[in-house]
Amino acid sequence: MIFNNREKSGPNHLPSALQLAELKGGAWDVVILGAGVAGASAAILSAKHGLRTLLVEAKPFPREKVCGGCLNLRSQGSLKRLGVLNQIELAGSIRIDSMHLQILATSVNWTVPAMISVRRSTLDTILVDEAVTQGCKFIDSAHGSLIASESNTRSVRIQKQDQSVVVEAKCVLVASGLTRSPLKNPTNWPAVVHEDSRIGVQCMLSETHAAAYVGTQLHMLVGKNGYAGICSTDGSFVDVAAAIDPASIQTLGGIEQVVRGILEECDAPPIQWPEFIPWMATPALTRNSSRVAERCVFLIGDAIGYVEPFTGEGMSWALASAEAVMPHVIEIAHKEWNDRMADQWSDWAVRQRIQKQKTCRWIASRIRRPRGAAWVLQACNWFPPLRATIIRKTTQ
Ligand SMILES: Cc1cc2nc3c(=O)[nH]c(=O)nc-3n(C[C@H](O)[C@H](O)[C@H](O)COP(=O)(O)OP(=O)(O)OC[C@H]3O[C@@H](n4cnc5c(N)ncnc54)[C@H](O)[C@@H]3O)c2cc1C
Repeated sequence: MIFNNREKSGPNHLPSALQLAELKGGAWDVVILGAGVAGASAAILSAKHGLRTLLVEAKPFPREKVCGGCLNLRSQGSLKRLGVLNQIELAGSIRIDSMHLQILATSVNWTVPAMISVRRSTLDTILVDEAVTQGCKFIDSAHGSLIASESNTRSVRIQKQDQSVVVEAKCVLVASGLTRSPLKNPTNWPAVVHEDSRIGVQCMLSETHAAAYVGTQLHMLVGKNGYAGICSTDGSFVDVAAAIDPASIQTLGGIEQVVRGILEECDAPPIQWPEFIPWMATPALTRNSSRVAERCVFLIGDAIGYVEPFTGEGMSWALASAEAVMPHVIEIAHKEWNDRMADQWSDWAVRQRIQKQKTCRWIASRIRRPRGAAWVLQACNWFPPLRATIIRKTTQ
């Protein structure tokens, strides 16, 4: 489906499809590959700046994706600047005001600064809808890939079912998440995947199946094979998202068994698992791209790199990367590429990794040893400043 701004009127309103061939004709100012939070928010910003923007998404929209869907304060700030926070609040999203954190038998209940829980199908559709309203063209169910190009512009192949078209772009943003699938020549784009990285899994359950988790509390449950975040979300669903050791899936006989095991270790209220559970899974979570930019191409969001998501950093980082890359995109559209941009983007990514992901890494490494982490939790009861620091780092 290609959404055309003149024909649409709301997030779930699907306008008539344009033809793939209509994407051809002069170079786009920017082509964005991937309509997750990074790609869709970059599309809003570039369209707002009057740039000719094409947003390409591999999956049919709206789509769910592996995510806990909790927006921390930084994410909420970015979404407010994009002009969509109000819509997200009106879409039935849930205000989370407390966190039940349980590591094996040790548990705490903390009041936290208000987070917002929203399904990714809802959030990403609102973002794409806003991008289209601002004048961006959007095509879903279409796979984009960078191909070699001799000219000053960059060439992108867009494949939809058995048809494909090559478009030219002054600038390309690769916002494809962990897969980095648009990068056809991975040797040009080396990435380091952490060898004992966990993978992400997620399913949406009805409130009937997960009645004990309905409410305004986020439940974070840590076991030996991983951890699960469970909370109510819009549409009367309960989002169950977890980061788990891939080896345990084989040992225990499936994703459900691993997640059930985490709940049992924490003595958490049981879930009435339905017969069919629509689990989704990610590749290895902890990774870093060694190169994040080359001539007229920038990686943004998870495509740059990612750490296990205990702190809900992911979306705020993806949104921040879309805002930060925009001055380069605008400069390329109005002037031209300059080699210093690759260095500047690389510096930005390294700074973010060091500053923003430091806490994420620290927490991820602590909870790999749940017994030790349970001690940290107990220490929070005796030493409130430690508790305040953990809450601030995990929710703001
Ligand atoms: C278990 C788990 C729980 C999480 N919980 C939270 C949380 O509560 N809060 C939080 O802030 N973060 C959370 N995160 C992290 C968050 O989901 C990610 O950081 C965020 O989605 C990154 O956004 P992105 O736009 O970079 O990538 P994505 O959201 O992954 O979007 C990438 C998009 O690109 C598309 N795509 C891929 N290849 C192509 C291609 N070749 N052409 C076109 N399109 C393509 C994909 O279909 C996808 O729609 C969680 C992650 C996991 C794994």
